[in-house]
Amino acid sequence: MPKTKVLISGASVAGPALASLLHRDGYDVTVVERAPAPRDSGYAVDFRGAAFDVLDELGILDEVRGHATAMRGTTLVDETGAVTGQLPAEAFAGELEVPKRELTRILHRITSDDVEYVFGDSITTLTPHATGVSVTFERTADREYDLVIGADGVYSQVRRLAFGPHADAVRHLGLSGAGFTTTNYLGLDHRGLLQHSKDTAIYLFSAGDPDRLTVSLSFATASPDLDRRGRGEQQEAVRAAFARHGWQAPRLLDAMTAADDFYFASTCQVHLDRWSRGRIVLVGDAGYCAAPTSGMGTSQALIGARTLARRLAEAGGDHTAAFAAYETELRPYVARNQTHGQQATAMFGGGE
Ligand SMILES: Cc1cc2nc3c(=O)[nH]c(=O)nc-3n(C[C@H](O)[C@H](O)[C@H](O)COP(=O)(O)OP(=O)(O)OC[C@H]3O[C@@H](n4cnc5c(N)ncnc54)[C@H](O)[C@@H]3O)c2cc1C
Repeated sequence: MPKTKVLISGASVAGPALASLLHRDGYDVTVVERAPAPRDSGYAVDFRGAAFDVLDELGILDEVRGHATAMRGTTLVDETGAVTGQLPAEAFAGELEVPKRELTRILHRITSDDVEYVFGDSITTLTPHATGVSVTFERTADREYDLVIGADGVYSQVRRLAFGPHADAVRHLGLSGAGFTTTNYLGLDHRGLLQHSKDTAIYLFSAGDPDRLTVSLSFATASPDLDRRGRGEQQEAVRAAFARHGWQAPRLLDAMTAADDFYFASTCQVHLDRWSRGRIVLVGDAGYCAAPTSGMGTSQALIGARTLARRLAEAGGDHTAAFAAYETELRPYVARNQTHGQQATAMFGGGE
């Protein structure tokens, strides 16, 4: 019998994790990724709860642990820099925290011999029919697949094509932020500094590379699509939000202008009534992003991938039954994470 052909869009966390599990279960898997190579994301991600079992099942738990940021905690300061409290490492770093680029790199490495990766490309149309889905790409020639899986993040192309416009699914929580690195001029050593007011937060930490300071500047904003604008406009919004701030803000704004690893993200959630349409299904942030502030996005992407793989294996090829069982099982977990994401965002000045 020919293998079931699966196309996964997105090669970050959910995509390659699912690719690994589906290959193990006998599927013929292709992963298409818009970026030209595995992404070199600048921030750290953490793992909680059952995500450790998924890392173990993927055979990468020890290797991932080897990249732990080993944060020792975060000091809270006020606008003058005076210490007002301490947070334990788990508050931001979960049970284990690693640079996201290391996780993506490991997941890519363990699948690259068995899974076809197409970097620098994107799906352009999905046409479902009785026995499969016809797919066109920006660069690759047209292909046929039995199943198509969107693991392509908050602004999922698969979701847009199969479910509808981003505005129907993406909910901005009123908080956006910039991230970048600069020299570790504060001499932080596996520690963080957090200064937050009603509608801004400055979070600084150094781990891994002792010479670099990772900077996050977050602020409340009613502009939902700042993360879709250009770098100039994003930096202007950051400067405006921190214009009257003292403490480290002026120096950090200068460092932001000079940074070559600047990124910008809005705190969003994805809400959908259903996570599948026929032979097309969503996993990870594409289907049910809980917001970066939840601290659960990476765990959720891994657990989502494993739940989907297990339900497909159990259903013996009946994708309709598998997709329904996947959603029934995962929805309560996602709902809890999304509630937590909303509460955590409100603490930093966001709120719908
Ligand atoms: C600033 C920031 C900080 C965060 N901090 C944490 C944290 O501390 N802890 C935590 O657990 N989580 C954190 N997260 C969230 C975490 O990164 C995500 O929840 C997690 O990576 C979700 O994985 P994913 O594979 O579903 O999606 P993503 O990691 O978003 O990956 C989507 C992939 O799809 C690709 N893609 C997009 N469009 C297309 C297309 N058209 N065609 C092909 N490929 C496409 C993208 O390039 C990307 O590689 C943070 C997120 C941000 C933005």
